[in-house]
Order: sequence, then C-alpha cells, then structure tokens
Amino acid sequence: MYDYDLLVVGSANADLVIGVERRPAAGETVLGGDLAVHPGGKGANQAVAAARLRARTALLARVGDDGHGRLLLDSLRTAGVDTAGVLVGGAPTGVALITVDPEGDNSIVVSPGANSRLLPADVRAAAGLVRASRVVSAQLEIPLEAVVETVRCLAPGSRFVLNPSPPRELPAEVLAACDPLIVNEHEARVILGGAPVGDDPAEWARLLLARGPRSVVVTLGARGALVGDGSGVTRVPSVAVAAVDTTGAGDAFTAALAWRLGAGADLAGAAAYAARVGAAAVTRRGAQESYPTAEEVEALGGPGDAPAPGADR
Ligand code: ADP
Repeated sequence: MYDYDLLVVGSANADLVIGVERRPAAGETVLGGDLAVHPGGKGANQAVAAARLRARTALLARVGDDGHGRLLLDSLRTAGVDTAGVLVGGAPTGVALITVDPEGDNSIVVSPGANSRLLPADVRAAAGLVRASRVVSAQLEIPLEAVVETVRCLAPGSRFVLNPSPPRELPAEVLAACDPLIVNEHEARVILGGAPVGDDPAEWARLLLARGPRSVVVTLGARGALVGDGSGVTRVPSVAVAAVDTTGAGDAFTAALAWRLGAGADLAGAAAYAARVGAAAVTRRGAQESYPTAEEVEALGGPGDAPAPGADR
C-alpha cells in the first residue's frame, strides 16, 4: 500500500571539521589539522540511519549544484536512500563549519544554504511522495512553512514524527499532527515556552502532551528516554555502552523509532528498539558513519521490538 516505510523531510549539510589546539577568539587566526568533510544535516542523518536498518526510505530535501551536494547524494545512495525527492540547485549546499579542540568542545557556524530554499511549493510538488509514505518525519533545519505544508499533505492513514531541532515554538496545527513529538531536555524547555518546568522529565512529558501532540518522547542521553501518550508516561531504559561520540545519536534514535512505529510496534517497544540503535551509534565516531545495521543492533542485545529479518516487505 505504501512505497516507503519512511520519508524524511529535512536538511542535508556538509560538515567541515578542523581539529584545533585552541578555538580562535575574535580577530584571531589559529592553524588547525587537515580538513575532514562528512555528510550530515539532521534530515540526511535520519534517512541514512533508517536505510541502514533496511527501512524503505526516501528523503525530501534540497542541496546545491556543487561538490558538497554530490557528496551528500552519494552517501545517501550508498546507504540505500531513494533520492528522487532530493532537489538540486537554488543556493549552495548547506554547510556546518566545525572547529573541535582537544577537549572535544566545538564551535559551529551553520550556513543553511539550499536547506533554507526548501519551500512549501517544493513540498506540494512532492505531495505524491508524502502520500506514498507510511511514516513521515521532519526536523526544523528547513523552513517551518515547509513542515506545515508536509503536515497538510499527509495521507489520512500515515503517521507524522517531529524532532523540533533547532527548537522554536510550534503552531497548533503542527503540534496536533505529531505522533510522537521527540525532544531532548533543551528542546522540551523551548517548546514549553521557557516557562519554569522543574527537573522532572516525566512532568515535561505531561506538559508537552497538554500542548496537543498525540504522543511525546523525551530523550535523556545515557539515561534513556520517556514515552508518553493518553495512557500515561513510561520510562525506557538506555542500553549500557562505552560512549565514544554522541554526534547524531538523536537522529538515529528518531529514525529507528519512526520506522518501528510504522511497522506496527507500540510506542514503548519502538522506543526500546530506538534506544538500542542510539546506543550503537554512540560507540563509533561521527554521525552517519556511526549508524548500525539491523544485524549490529541485534548483536547489541537488550529489549525492544526487534524486526524479524525481511519483515514489513
Ligand atoms: P540528542 O542527540 O537529540 O540530544 P540524546 O543524546 O538524548 O539525543 O540521545 C538519543 C538517544 O540515544 C537516547 O535516548 C539514548 O537511547 C541513546 N543514547 C544517547 N547517548 C547514549 C549513551 N551515552 N549511552 C547509551 N545510549 C545513549
């Protein structure tokens, strides 16, 4: 009935990373190590994470007609993502300029570039792709208007998942479509409007639910996650691993959760599986390079609604 298990509507960036002894102050030049260029952006990360788990995945995004755009298209295709929805041109590919010091602290400048030119008209033109997808996920590294249009184009039976990152206040129409809204602590606080919300994540989940989403997930890093819907709030434990680099863990978690929900898992089961995927992702460096295959998630063990090989085909 659906051509895709997951359509990701979102960003694609080239991450340009330079290691430095010390991050430069205003007016200062520092010499760093060799430049490393990695495919990134929350949308592309989510699409690659889902495809590596063998979900039938497509990406609706915009890149520039340039070398960084080609790098991103290559990495998406290598992972098995359908790139028919990736639009090319209009502005340079989005880039993140990242300097990292020996302590691992970084400074980042993002140029959204082509991501900021993914417009509601582009989403309308791709409405067939949206309707052909069992689950549609989005983030906020593209214009909010494009996310609103995505919600309007959803097929009646399909499911919408939003990670509002970077966070901003959301229109009621978008909140009402989220099933779930997936936030970390910082995002939860911004979505709740900066009002004092205390330190209890279960309380954030209840306050977020009162804003209108059908369900919520609060991710808590090494402490796991909370899931909440009309029937209450439940804790999902994390999987204990030796964390090396948490970059992109949230994107892998979101992609895995969205895919398992579409395959019929309940929210707690899908989140438990996603926690295994997030845990596997933090055991390796990088974002997309760190994402596990379904077999690697199996090998990690732990709870979660693990798909049978060849399920959902
Ligand atoms: P974000 O990157 O959006 O802030 P989190 O850091 O909360 O997201 O990570 C998302 C999920 O990945 C967590 O809910 C957890 O399941 C898993 N995860 C993240 N960090 C770790 C870790 N150090 N050990 C085990 N699992 C982790």
